[in-house]
Amino acid sequence: MLPVTVPEGSACNLNDCDTQQMSLGAGQQHRLTTSLASVGSIVCRICHTNTSKERLISPCRCKGSLAYVHLACLERWLNQTCRSYCELCRYHFNVIETPRYRWPESLRIWISHPRNRRNVQSDLLIFTLLSVVTVGLVTVCLLGMQYFVIEGNKIGISKLWTRGAVWFFLVIVLLGYITTVYLLGKDQLSPWYRWWKSTVNVRLVTDPQLLRRSSNESFQSHEN
Ligand SMILES: [Zn+2]
Ligand SMILES: [Zn+2]
Repeated sequence: MLPVTVPEGSACNLNDCDTQQMSLGAGQQHRLTTSLASVGSIVCRICHTNTSKERLISPCRCKGSLAYVHLACLERWLNQTCRSYCELCRYHFNVIETPRYRWPESLRIWISHPRNRRNVQSDLLIFTLLSVVTVGLVTVCLLGMQYFVIEGNKIGISKLWTRGAVWFFLVIVLLGYITTVYLLGKDQLSPWYRWWKSTVNVRLVTDPQLLRRSSNESFQSHEN
């Protein structure tokens, strides 16, 4: 089971450690290349090891020591970042992406995040207050219609005009209520929906040729 990514924004978040390892500026890349070259070993650019158990592959356009990575390390990194491309050379990997959560589960995870929960709570409070006020206004208008008609008659306003004015007011109130509820809902659901859609499991579709070639290359480099 993959670690639950904290829904901070619209996309998966990167684990700090991996960010440091993968987000290399040109200068850092150069330093890393130099330091690796100086020790004369080819290591995985993510875990910085080269165990004989797992073969190193060169799956993207990255060159030099940064070209090599363990398949499992790369897949783990792609899953943590929900990306399907190399952050350094922008090469798009051949991947299969599947949604990580069904929508009820993703909604539960989204709401379990404190910041999102606070947003939902404050919007629910606004929704409740607005609903109470709207129901109150509608009730007063409908129950008091007869009273308004009588009072209108006293000052010479016809029954039709009074009823028309009350209904017009009711329509304005209801339109205002519906618009506000729609905006509140959209405000809550849009970021969740974007996060849910961007949170995917990424599986690399590896070319057996590439695996063979890469392991040979890495073997030859070791020989040299
Ligand atoms: Zn590795
Ligand atoms: Zn690359």
